[in-house]
Amino acid sequence: MRRQFGFSTTAIHGIPHRRPDWAPIAPALQQSSTFVNPVGSDEEVLYSRYGNNPNQLTLAKKYALLEGAEDAIFVASGMGATALAHLAMLRPGDHLISSSWIYGGTQLLFDHELARFGIDVTYVNPEQPRHWRKAVRKSTRAIFVETPTNPLMRIIDLGPIAYIAEEEGLALMVDATFASPVNFRPIEHGADVVITSATKYLNGHSDVIAGAVAGSLSFVEEVNRLMRLWGQAIDPHAAWLIDRGMRTLAVRMERHNANGLAVAQWAEKRDAFTKVHYPGLPSHRDHEHAKSVLSGFGGMVGLELKGGAAAAERLLNRLKLITHAPSLAGVETLVSEPRLTSHKSIGPEGRAKIGIPDGFLRLSCGIEDAGDIIGDLEEGLK
Ligand SMILES: *Cc1c(COP(=O)(O)O)cnc(C)c1O
Repeated sequence: MRRQFGFSTTAIHGIPHRRPDWAPIAPALQQSSTFVNPVGSDEEVLYSRYGNNPNQLTLAKKYALLEGAEDAIFVASGMGATALAHLAMLRPGDHLISSSWIYGGTQLLFDHELARFGIDVTYVNPEQPRHWRKAVRKSTRAIFVETPTNPLMRIIDLGPIAYIAEEEGLALMVDATFASPVNFRPIEHGADVVITSATKYLNGHSDVIAGAVAGSLSFVEEVNRLMRLWGQAIDPHAAWLIDRGMRTLAVRMERHNANGLAVAQWAEKRDAFTKVHYPGLPSHRDHEHAKSVLSGFGGMVGLELKGGAAAAERLLNRLKLITHAPSLAGVETLVSEPRLTSHKSIGPEGRAKIGIPDGFLRLSCGIEDAGDIIGDLEEGLK
């Protein structure tokens, strides 16, 4: 679907249309599992597990427009979206190549669940395109990449990967949750399928768990078929809340981008931090590439605190505005420690090796006043 209107307009209206007299301005919530069926009709019934409740459908159309995809579908969680997208793409005996820098839940899904279907996964360092090609087998069907990455905010260059996928006839699937379609649209860079945790920026208010898949009409139809059978439909109320959240997506992202940059620039000058990971800083490894592909650098900042775990705990215990909690991308600033969450299983040496030493803080800058976020960190460091 082609987007005819700007991002803000699309995120609010989808495709704007004249409303009938007396129509509600806010969309009605159709909190109904089922709908009246015409007697004698053999048309598809309306049933919310089928994903054909109006709240589910209008949300999906709007999101497809933002991603520049033919179609999209919302499901019960980001993990649900990842699982169904891969089940739709892969058959037993197929091979998947995945970036090694991915969300922990996704890695567990690949290693333990896809394996049960006889699907083999090879992990590749995404910085070396040659490795992608070397990993291709006769049975390879798809490549999976996550960008920006957690928690180093690396921005993967999809160009060479999309080129290999095209040449080898593979599908390129991208989880761009950390960017949101406002900052990065994978389909414009050669991806066939976009997976997102709508729990994060799309909804943006830390009150919904949901996920979405965008891609071609036929692919989304297959995800829809699986969603019905595996029972992964999104609840109409969750869909309604995301639709509401998305109406402010563009303005929220502007503020997340501004706050992320302000905090990163402040932290870089503060010697309490040995390193700051933010793609908007010239010191970031991917800054040049990030400038060319992102419309904004986002609200996620990685901070390496001097003094390791003890210093991190001291700081976290002193924060008043910033809350220590997992997850990200809501209006309120959250902070978490990869050593206790996403990167717990690999141990301190494993973490140090991949550049996530203890004392690493992952900050999800909300949309508060930047000065207050910085002020809270300043107080905490005293
Ligand atoms: C949170 C997240 C997921 C999982 O989403 P849920 O909505 O929690 O199921 C997947 N990928 C990335 C990059 C995430 O941040």
